[in-house]
Amino acid sequence: MYRVPKKLIYNMSATHKPVLSVPSGSTLLFETCDCFEDQITSEQTPFQALDWTRINPATGPVFIEGADPGDMLEVKIDKIVIRDHGVMVTGPDMGVLGDELTENSIRIIPIRQDKAFFTENVELPLNPMIGVIGTAPASEAISCGTPGNHGGNMDCKVIGEGATLYLPVNVPGGLLALGDLHAAMGDGEVSVCGVEVSGEVTLSVTVIKGKQWQLPFLKNSKAIYMIASEKSLDEATIRATKNMVHFLVNECALNNYDAITLLSIAGNIQICQIVDPLKTVRMELPLSVLEQLGYTF
Ligand code: CA
Ligand code: CA
Repeated sequence: MYRVPKKLIYNMSATHKPVLSVPSGSTLLFETCDCFEDQITSEQTPFQALDWTRINPATGPVFIEGADPGDMLEVKIDKIVIRDHGVMVTGPDMGVLGDELTENSIRIIPIRQDKAFFTENVELPLNPMIGVIGTAPASEAISCGTPGNHGGNMDCKVIGEGATLYLPVNVPGGLLALGDLHAAMGDGEVSVCGVEVSGEVTLSVTVIKGKQWQLPFLKNSKAIYMIASEKSLDEATIRATKNMVHFLVNECALNNYDAITLLSIAGNIQICQIVDPLKTVRMELPLSVLEQLGYTF
């Protein structure tokens, strides 16, 4: 296993020098800061003391040997280890309620016994997930706060342990980086954040050649997902749906009519987040449907 040096980047870019170069098939351990770069140490941390240029750091990037533009990376997320507390913030101009809030709020959420303690009486199940994970785009750098076709800040709660995420290779080596772990998050991420937490991610990454899937794409033990980010939820929904239709047409030999009809019965549109510069939606299709279509990975 390779331990990725903990160098932080704030955008995904072809210009970053890789911190590590590994063969396809390698297992990697990434240590990550929380999305505030661990600057918040208590609920009394003054908001104005935070350095907002150090938001959403990602650890990396890693050069995957043999990855050429047009290939894709298969990223199997083996394990996510999080620390014993998370941080949440909200306030004016943040999240869905930003127009109704007058002051900034910082909240520390204790984590123990596999629960997040909202209060001592309200404990919530953990769903450790990766908020920011992506590869370098081909041309202009993209802030780690923005999601896109390269992955990035998708804030998608199914990007968790046991999931396999497929990302595009746009530049030689792909340049994989990740950060912004959440101990738990609801679909939508309505206050502007999840339970933001630092931690460690163990994953394995393999170069896949010769597949022309729309990406990002995710598979877990339950379903497959097409993840799309656009200016509006409507546009993101339409593209996630079209991407799944194209997968069914190209990989399962359905025609357009059958594919869209099947999705109208068995496909589920789910909102990942509505608070980032682009909004992210996923189209879910149960594995049981794929199996009946004769598709195997
Ligand atoms: Ca995020
Ligand atoms: Ca976050």
